Amino acid sequence: MPIDPTLPYDDHNVFAKILRGEIPNRTVYEDEWALAFHDINPQAPTHVLVIPKGPYVSWDDFSAGASAEEIAGFVRAVGHVARSLGLVEPGYRLLANIGQHGHQEVPHLHVHLFGGKPLGPMLA
Ligand code: AMP
Repeated sequence: MPIDPTLPYDDHNVFAKILRGEIPNRTVYEDEWALAFHDINPQAPTHVLVIPKGPYVSWDDFSAGASAEEIAGFVRAVGHVARSLGLVEPGYRLLANIGQHGHQEVPHLHVHLFGGKPLGPMLA
């Protein structure tokens, strides 16, 4: 079920539990600002999720409320993960689902990173 993005941050969401080490994950990269791990239900040969360490529901509260340092750290981490996985050439796709129409299911901001095959045109 898509989430209601207007609700406050829920500390019990699955990615909050992963950040606290309560649920295992297949970590690809971690630094002060972000954690990247393999999606449990991959939709491409490479399907990694990158999440900020701060308690943000979606791109909306993150872009409006995070510090410049947090935003820069997160964006740099996403780029670093793509480079470290060798995806820059031939390319990859980033996707963030936001709220109900975006069909966001986990209420902690995450960017999907897809790669490893030609992905075809974006479907709206
Ligand atoms: P979204 O629809 O953008 O909220 O996508 C949530 C994503 O989280 C889906 O691709 C799920 O497969 C993935 N997911 C859910 N639980 C886990 C988990 N424990 N570890 C890794 N990925 C997960």
